[in-house]
Amino acid sequence: MQRNPTRRQLFAGAALLGAASRTVRTQPAGTAAGAPPRVRVVFLTGASDLPYHHWRESTAFLRDVLEHTGRFDVKVIEEVRGITPATLEAFEVAVLNYNGPRWGAPAEAAIESFVRGGKGLVSFHGVTYGAFYGMVSNGGWKAPANGDPGWAAYGDLIGATWDPPKIGHGARHVFEVKWVDRDHPISRGLAESFQANDELYHRLDLKPGTHVLATAFSALETGGTGRDEPIMWTSAFGAGRTLHTTLGHDLSALQQAGFQTAFERGVEWAATGSAAEPSRAAAERPMRVLVATGGHPYPTAFYTLFEGHEDLAWEHATTQREAYQERMAERFDVLVLHDMYNEIGEAERTNLRAFIEAGKGVVSIHHAIVDYTAWPWFHEQVIGGKYYEKALEGHPASAYKEGVEFVARPTKAGAGHPVTSGIGPIPVHDEVYRGMWHAPGSQPLMETDHPLNDRPVVYTGVHPQARSVYIQMGHSASTHRHPAYRKLVHNAIRWCAGRPQGATA
Ligand SMILES: [Zn+2]
Ligand SMILES: [Zn+2]
Repeated sequence: MQRNPTRRQLFAGAALLGAASRTVRTQPAGTAAGAPPRVRVVFLTGASDLPYHHWRESTAFLRDVLEHTGRFDVKVIEEVRGITPATLEAFEVAVLNYNGPRWGAPAEAAIESFVRGGKGLVSFHGVTYGAFYGMVSNGGWKAPANGDPGWAAYGDLIGATWDPPKIGHGARHVFEVKWVDRDHPISRGLAESFQANDELYHRLDLKPGTHVLATAFSALETGGTGRDEPIMWTSAFGAGRTLHTTLGHDLSALQQAGFQTAFERGVEWAATGSAAEPSRAAAERPMRVLVATGGHPYPTAFYTLFEGHEDLAWEHATTQREAYQERMAERFDVLVLHDMYNEIGEAERTNLRAFIEAGKGVVSIHHAIVDYTAWPWFHEQVIGGKYYEKALEGHPASAYKEGVEFVARPTKAGAGHPVTSGIGPIPVHDEVYRGMWHAPGSQPLMETDHPLNDRPVVYTGVHPQARSVYIQMGHSASTHRHPAYRKLVHNAIRWCAGRPQGATA
């Protein structure tokens, strides 16, 4: 938590006092009630010195980096020339990703007054030279013969100038970036250095009053200067905050985790003067997930459910023996069942039971509802339901039909449950099951009204120690690729691991 109220918190206070004016922000769509409002970011872009720097690629990538956190609301302006102060009024911070012809006095004045009036500006890499500095290019950047100084305020916005004969860097390489101020909101709580894979700009002239946050040693062997070069710095411009980094040459430079963390926190700091604690995904240990298959075919799209999540590390077992080993509770937090076996061996039964009784989680998907027919404890306590392949114990056989379109909807009773958080109705072309047994005490989280399917399609188990969720949909690749289904499975894994829901989905 922050010691001092941020501007956003002061806004919130003003709204409570009824002093609200047009500066009071509305909750962006999709923001949970009670979550802090998102930081409103605008990218100013639309040209770069191609083929060296690609504004389209870098803007799209960095926009994703910010939005993935759930803390930013990002817009992009690709034609900056026509902007006025009113264009920028809705934003708290601008990201400059532009190296092209001058925008003209009205647009440039609008940006100056935006920052001077207390907003933020973040800039990186290839904006450190060019027409804004009055330079002209004829293969390399030069001061113009007519002595044009360019946009007078630009060097103060960036916090640096670069004398054309000194513009350059050594060979692109991997190097360490050291935080030299580790008590700044951007760097606080982070490791003392991070790795860059980038061009290491050298011989820039920083403006008086800039504050260097990070440096890197520019080695002579890579064509550098043999000294520490500034990599990231802040400046004040009027009442506003600006941050510049020389990093960010291309996508593989931007993909470095250290760069992304610094960028996210830098944008938030420039907007608000503070930055969130290092992201939970960076702080928390990934959930260890064991995916057990076997006994039934399935589309390989199933595997993609477990990819692309930084909070999840998974292993795959293709047999019971491989899956249910002794002390599996020490190695895994959640078991994802996508197998279909009538039988389970005695040793495997013991090991799986120990895992569940250790309070671990089980997410069962689709045909796993048929599992372990002769082990009532498992379907009564753990899955919370049972599909009868044939009539048994006085229960008639269940029925299935593949290739049916139906809609799974969150139940009213399950509204607000972490597993269905952010999930609306999911239309699928999948397999229907009918005539199953459902455990008393199991909580239905999603349901369907399709006549060929039992009503509950997602529900919890009833075991007092372990969290368990059964998800019926999952026969077809189109279901596996449905964004809401993917989120549902990820939510279920997080809930079964005892993790709070959040932006890392
Ligand atoms: Zn570059
Ligand atoms: Zn199926």
